[in-house]
Amino acid sequence: MPLRSDWSARTCSLARGLDVLGDPWGSLVLREVFFGNGRFDAIKKRLEVADNVLSKRLGWLLDAGLLAQRPYLDGARTRQEYVLTPKGQDALPVLNAIIIWAEKHLDAPNEVSHMRVIHTQCGLPTSSADTCTHCGARLTAANTSWHSLKRSEHPLPLAVAPTEPFETDQAIASPETEIPA
Ligand SMILES: [Zn+2]
Repeated sequence: MPLRSDWSARTCSLARGLDVLGDPWGSLVLREVFFGNGRFDAIKKRLEVADNVLSKRLGWLLDAGLLAQRPYLDGARTRQEYVLTPKGQDALPVLNAIIIWAEKHLDAPNEVSHMRVIHTQCGLPTSSADTCTHCGARLTAANTSWHSLKRSEHPLPLAVAPTEPFETDQAIASPETEIPA
C-alpha cells in the first residue's frame, strides 16, 4: 500500500498497521467517512485536496478493505459513495487515540480547532480511545460522537458500517435478499 515503500510484509505489526493507517490523507478520508461524509465531491471539498490525491487514498482504502462502495442516485445518474466496512470501523480507536493525544500534547491554532471524543449516551468527552472514562462502556462507532468545534456546535454521531455494504439496487429488489419482516 501507501507511503514510500511497501511495509505490508514487515515483521512488526505496528509497521504493517502504519502501512494502512499511517498516511495522513488516508486517515483524514476515514475521518470524513466516520462523519458520514462519503461522497467524492463532498470529501474533496472538506479536505481541500486534489482529485488525484483523494482518488489514490480512496483506492488504497478500498483495496485494504476499510471502505466499500455503495451506489446512490444523483438525479438520474447512479454514482458511488464510500462507506465503512467492519474492518474500517475497527480503526475507530486508532483515530480516537490520535485525537486524544493531540488534544493533550499539541497546541491548537485557535479555539475552534479542538475535537473531542464523546460517549453519546453520557454526552461527555472521554480521555480513553476505546472506553468511556465516565461509565466504562466500550466505545464503538454506534455509541461514539466526535465534537469538532469547527464543524458543528454539537457532537456528531459517527457513521457505522452498513450491514450490506455491497448491495445494489437489483440485489435489494431480488426476493432472495429480502430481509424477512
Ligand atoms: Zn459513558
